Amino acid sequence: MKIAVAGMGVAGSTISSLLHDSGHDLSLFDPKSPGFYPPCGWAVNEREFCHLSQKIGLNGEDYVLSRADSIILSNSSRSIRLQSGGLCTIDKMRFLVDLADGMAISRGRLSPREYDIVFDCTGISRAYIGQPREDFRMSAVEALVAGSQKKEFVFNYYPGGHGYSWSFPLGSNTHIGSGSDRTELNSFVLSLPNKIRLTGRDIRIRPLFDEAVSGNVVAVGESAGTVSPITGEGILPSMRNAFLAAEKLERHGKEDFLKYYPRFLRESFAQYIDLFGLVKDARMGRLIRPANLMKVGTAIRDLKSFGINAGVWKILKGVI
Ligand SMILES: Cc1cc2nc3c(=O)[nH]c(=O)nc-3n(C[C@H](O)[C@H](O)[C@H](O)COP(=O)(O)OP(=O)(O)OC[C@H]3O[C@@H](n4cnc5c(N)ncnc54)[C@H](O)[C@@H]3O)c2cc1C
Repeated sequence: MKIAVAGMGVAGSTISSLLHDSGHDLSLFDPKSPGFYPPCGWAVNEREFCHLSQKIGLNGEDYVLSRADSIILSNSSRSIRLQSGGLCTIDKMRFLVDLADGMAISRGRLSPREYDIVFDCTGISRAYIGQPREDFRMSAVEALVAGSQKKEFVFNYYPGGHGYSWSFPLGSNTHIGSGSDRTELNSFVLSLPNKIRLTGRDIRIRPLFDEAVSGNVVAVGESAGTVSPITGEGILPSMRNAFLAAEKLERHGKEDFLKYYPRFLRESFAQYIDLFGLVKDARMGRLIRPANLMKVGTAIRDLKSFGINAGVWKILKGVI
């Protein structure tokens, strides 16, 4: 098959490395300059990161910058300390460079008609699949700050489902950022002292599984909405999505893959549909209702898979 991958972030780089030796005619596209610094907290669950990295021939441990001693989860009135379940930060820039090692990447634009399949891994921009009917994004700003004052990883949730700010140690430096649809809440990041770099972009927290295929164009990663609506975790979900897409294409062939891909996404990332519902309810002030009880369990499992060990009562007391 003639396959194009647009976007060489974590989703595009992972699917490219999976398809690289599969006998397909593969072309890769990304306009970013070498040394591009991706706006991202670089936090992942170490065990899962190492597991997925190993499957594509990389040693995940080589990229770990800081491991969480403990995790502080807070809201405007309370703060709780939680055990780490393996949350760490990685050198995402180096990881992306190594993932794409030896692959030729064109900076031009592709023409979807020339390919059997185009994987749109362009994240927030959905440059080839097009904009969805409805989206939900939060605007995020992040500073790389010199020094690492705190050992903990900190998540400070804004009331009413309006996002959160974070502080994640990165070896000798720290990422401090804020993501919210209320942009005034992000503004403290602009005035942080000791900034080395300031970055930002929108983050999509709405699953777009039913709008993940258009003709021969297939969304993978944040372009498909594989981002946790409650933590903003998108690195490992994008990698998992890339594994899913590569495996299902090989197994089902082009026609069935295009037909069933939205269903595969809904099955594999069902939790994000529930969690997006939870965020919407929080924003409408109707979080505490029977229908959401099951979703609290889903939220706890989602935190665990990100590397945050949180029990039901701690979450109810500390964050909701
Ligand atoms: C501020 C911030 C902090 C975050 N922190 C974390 C975190 O700590 N942990 C975590 O797990 N997730 C985090 N996320 C989410 C995570 O970064 C993303 O969900 C994840 O990187 C998505 O990967 P992706 O490959 O789908 O998209 P992206 O990483 O956005 O990659 C998209 C790629 O497409 C390229 N591109 C754009 N337009 C085109 C085009 N027209 N043609 C070809 N290529 C194009 C871009 O150059 C880029 O390389 C954060 C996000 C933000 C914004």
